[in-house]
Amino acid sequence: METSSAAERVTSRFIAGHTLEREVAVCRRLNAEGILASLDHLGESVKSLEEAERSRDAYLSALDQIATLRLQATVSVKLTQLGLAFSEAACRTNVEQLVERAKAIGTSVEIDMESSEYVDRTLALVFDLHARYGSVRAVIQAYLYRGESDIEDLCRKSIPVRLCKGAYKEPSDVAFPHKRDVDHNYVRLMTKLFEQGTDPALATHDERIIQQAVQYEKERNITPDRFEFQMLYGIRRDLQRRLVADGYRLRLYVPYGDAWYPYFMRRLAERPANVLFLARNLLKN
Ligand SMILES: Cc1cc2nc3c(=O)[nH]c(=O)nc-3n(C[C@H](O)[C@H](O)[C@H](O)COP(=O)(O)OP(=O)(O)OC[C@H]3O[C@@H](n4cnc5c(N)ncnc54)[C@H](O)[C@@H]3O)c2cc1C
Repeated sequence: METSSAAERVTSRFIAGHTLEREVAVCRRLNAEGILASLDHLGESVKSLEEAERSRDAYLSALDQIATLRLQATVSVKLTQLGLAFSEAACRTNVEQLVERAKAIGTSVEIDMESSEYVDRTLALVFDLHARYGSVRAVIQAYLYRGESDIEDLCRKSIPVRLCKGAYKEPSDVAFPHKRDVDHNYVRLMTKLFEQGTDPALATHDERIIQQAVQYEKERNITPDRFEFQMLYGIRRDLQRRLVADGYRLRLYVPYGDAWYPYFMRRLAERPANVLFLARNLLKN
């Protein structure tokens, strides 16, 4: 199912395509429109060293394309795609190669945050990689109670942070169960990043929060080059265009590859209207 062309038609709103070639074409178009990109080679929770190495190699190819074509782009990786679930040592070796290469070509690796069981191990690797290379960005999920203290630790080390709300199903002993509390915490953490962060990235499509960010930076004369907004490819394209027209730095997270299923299902789960969109497209095809 993941490699079928019917599936590609249905998923194309959120996913650039199966191949790096398609991904690069999308990134070039975005760059021409003044939008930065982060390339995400889809995949997570791989089960063998060989699969983890294949993911690493896919990212090395993506980094080569970024260098050759001078794309305005970072890469975003999930550590379980590089082996974290079964070998921390293998994961470290794989991600280190990516960070080393990213540094050499003047870009960085954004380390996505996955479910809460991986947060400690992910942050430990981020701290270590940043100390040795720089060229990494951490992700903090506002739905986790621990977000605030993690952000403080990252800011103390001047590690860039992407702030998102969080996309995984988490129990109430680790995460706020109610959306309004997550939204409230997002704004608190965003303020902290504006005050203490290095090159923060606000990853959200929440128009109300984006308004608050804009108001905050205007009131305090924070220039738009000191932070960036990030959004997912295919979501709120109207808002994306508006931010760019208003002079804000915007980076789109652009996934590609065959293993689209978990990513796509998280996007559907976030918004019931997407299921209707999917159903309409399936009927059309
Ligand atoms: C660049 C980027 C990187 C991310 N990285 C991570 C990560 O590493 N780890 C992680 O756990 N999560 C990550 N996320 C996902 C994030 O945690 C949320 O699940 C997702 O962004 C939806 O939250 P929201 O902030 O847009 O707010 P919401 O309150 O969920 O949505 C606000 C509005 O945005 C629009 N919208 C939101 N989602 C959708 C959708 N799926 N389809 C259509 N419209 C939608 C709707 O108009 C909605 O009303 C990332 C998100 C972005 C933008």
